Amino acid sequence: MPKQKLGVNTICTHVGEIKDEQFKGAISPIYLSTSYEFDNVDVKRYPRYFNTPNQEHLVKKIAALEHAEDALVFGSGMAAISHLFLAFLQKGDHLVVQNTLYGGTRNFIKSELPKYGIEFTFTNGYQVSDFEAAIQPNTKLIHIETPSNPLLTITDIRAVADLAKSKGIVSSIDNTFASPINQNPIDFGIDLVMHSATKYLGGHSDILAGAVAGSKSHIERIWNVGINLGGSLSDFTVWMLERSMKTLALRVKEQNKNARKLAKFLAKNDKIAKVNYPGLKSHPQHKLAKQQMHDFGGMLSFELVKDIDAMAFLNQLQLIKSSMSLAGVESTMLLPSKTSHALLTPQEREAVGISNHLIRFSVGIEDFKDLRNDIKQALTKVKTETFA
Ligand code: PLP
Repeated sequence: MPKQKLGVNTICTHVGEIKDEQFKGAISPIYLSTSYEFDNVDVKRYPRYFNTPNQEHLVKKIAALEHAEDALVFGSGMAAISHLFLAFLQKGDHLVVQNTLYGGTRNFIKSELPKYGIEFTFTNGYQVSDFEAAIQPNTKLIHIETPSNPLLTITDIRAVADLAKSKGIVSSIDNTFASPINQNPIDFGIDLVMHSATKYLGGHSDILAGAVAGSKSHIERIWNVGINLGGSLSDFTVWMLERSMKTLALRVKEQNKNARKLAKFLAKNDKIAKVNYPGLKSHPQHKLAKQQMHDFGGMLSFELVKDIDAMAFLNQLQLIKSSMSLAGVESTMLLPSKTSHALLTPQEREAVGISNHLIRFSVGIEDFKDLRNDIKQALTKVKTETFA
C-alpha cells in the first residue's frame, strides 16, 4: 500500500485487503475457521474475540474511512450500540442521549438500561444547550445522532464534543445516515462513531452488521465487554461487507446527487407540505450541515398535504419500493410511524415531530428522471383516487 494519504475511493477499494499469498487471487480470501492453532502463535484467534483474519482486516478499512485508530464489527447496528453503551456505562452512571434518534436505539435505552441500574435522560431538543441542561454529575456518555432518523435534524458535532470533553464525558455518534463518505465526526472531536453497517456500508440490502470506530483505548474497552456479550460478526458477512464497501463512495456520491435533486423537486410540488433535507436552504440547520458534512446524504423525509393519504401514495409507486430499512442501491420509502418508530408511543412520536403522514425516502442510485417520474405519476393517481 502506498505511504501517501489515500483518496476515499482507494481506501474503499484497497485498505484492509487480505493478500492471497497462496493463489495470488485479486480479492481477499475468506477464512471461515472457528478453530485456530493455539500453540506457538502470538494471537489466539477465535471469531468471538473479533480477531479472525477477515475481521482484523475489514476494520482497517472502516477505521481509515472514519479517521479513527481502530474499529470493531458487530452482528448488527444494535449490537454495535449496545456494546458501546455497556462498555462505557455501569450501575449508577448516567447517559445523555438525543431525543430525535432511531426508534430501536430509544427502545434499547428504555427497555434494557434500567435492568443494569443505568440512568438516562433524553434531551428536550438537539441544540448544545439541550445536552448541557441534561448533564448530571454521574453522566459518563453523551450520544448523538446526526442527521437523525427520520427527521434529518442536524446536531452541532463540534459543540457537543467540546462540551463532553470539558466535563470529562465520553461522546459517541450514530453516523449511519451520513456514512463516512459524507461526515467524519472524529475530525470534530467525537470519541466514538458507530454505524448500522446494514445501511450504507453494506448498501445492497443483504447484510446485517454494525461497526464502531474510535481510539485504540476506547475500542479496547468495547472489546473487553464484547468478548463477554458475544456480538461479533460472522466471517462470511465480514467478507460480504468488505466487498460491498469497495463501492461505498461511488454509491453514496450518486445517492447524494439524486437526493439533492429530488429534495428540490419535492419542495416545489404543491402536493408536498414539507421536505426535510439538510441540503435544502430552507432546512433550519442547513448552514451547520454545510460546515460539518462533505455532502448532504441520500436520506430525506417529507409530508404530503393533509388530504392525501400517505399509504395510498406509497401504494401507487411503481419503481420505488415501499420497504423497510434504508441505504440500499434501490430507492425505498416507508412510514416511520408504522416501522422504525412504531415502538414509540403516539405521544412520544408527536413530541419528536413524527406524524402519521411523514414518509422517509431512502434515495438509491437509479436515474433521477425515473425516480422523479415515478413520484409524479403516483401523486397524480393518488389525487384522482382521493378526490374521486
Ligand atoms: N441506527 C440507525 C440510524 C438506524 O437506522 C438503524 C436501523 O435502522 C440502527 C441504528 C440499527 O441497526 P441494525 O438494524 O443494523 O441493528
